[in-house]
Amino acid sequence: MALVAAALACASEPEPTAARPTTAAPPAIPTGTLNVVATVSPITSIVENIGGARINLQGLVPEGVNSHTFEPAPSVAAVLAEADLVFLNGLFLEEPTLEMARANRKAGAAIVSLGAQTVTREEWRFDFSFPEAGGHPNPHLWPDPLLALRYAEIVRDNLSERDPDNADYYTANYDRFAARIAQLDAAIKTGVASVPAENRKLLTYHDSWAYFADRYGLTVIGAVQPSDFSEPSAREVAALIKQITSEGIPAVFGSAVFPSDVMQTIAAESGAAYIDELSDDDLPGAPGDPRHSYLGLAVSNLQIMLPALGGDASALDGLDVSPVFEGASTAIYPQ
Ligand SMILES: [Zn+2]
Repeated sequence: MALVAAALACASEPEPTAARPTTAAPPAIPTGTLNVVATVSPITSIVENIGGARINLQGLVPEGVNSHTFEPAPSVAAVLAEADLVFLNGLFLEEPTLEMARANRKAGAAIVSLGAQTVTREEWRFDFSFPEAGGHPNPHLWPDPLLALRYAEIVRDNLSERDPDNADYYTANYDRFAARIAQLDAAIKTGVASVPAENRKLLTYHDSWAYFADRYGLTVIGAVQPSDFSEPSAREVAALIKQITSEGIPAVFGSAVFPSDVMQTIAAESGAAYIDELSDDDLPGAPGDPRHSYLGLAVSNLQIMLPALGGDASALDGLDVSPVFEGASTAIYPQ
């Protein structure tokens, strides 16, 4: 078949010039596979869902690492120097990586800040861990699935612009991803509606639920981790304990990346359960597992959060979180 296709392609081409190597296979339209780099795993997964088998994709921030303080190893410079596209969250999340990407950018490559193209400055959220005085907004847009879908749209457009031969493939993947996000959004609404109204309050250690909470009508009553990643003061802890007790909040949440004795104290003193299994950046399972994905992360977090607040997460149970694309993934998730 390949020989026939090659012969047909040759037949339709103009007279070969003398300089043309006669042994070369005639590519229909020469297209190099794009080298794409992404930072944190949820973003790498979104890029993977859109680019699928048609891009070379390298994630940068290892899972289990604090993305806010992550410093890329010097060897990452060589990866960034080969990249055609670098997708970051931006909004000051990955400043050392952004700096290295700029310093090593190859001619014509683009560095795309997904967060900055998703919310306007007026929509920036400031809070305890990201105070307005510091000028850096809360960067955690991706826990809100509809903001994550905007990330996917930006990824689709950038891949399609640089690799128009595969634009239909990227668009089909985006459309399938958008359908999954619509299902996820509906399931979250059902799940949140099952949480008693007085329990729709979040106290987390790491402050990653601000945009999600806005979307689904929860109130972030606080985050414990100060902006400099130190521990909160005794007075701040006492105030939180008082607030949890007076509001009767059933559970407070932490994550594996940020183990916290303070959260244990807050829970013990207030009588709330301490659930330390939420994840901000780390995907469930291992690379290659279907649930090791952005969608898997969203479902897993909600399956932990909603029951702990007295709700029912069963609407999320049947959601397909596996890759939406056809073909074998090239994505590398550093562990
Ligand atoms: Zn974070």
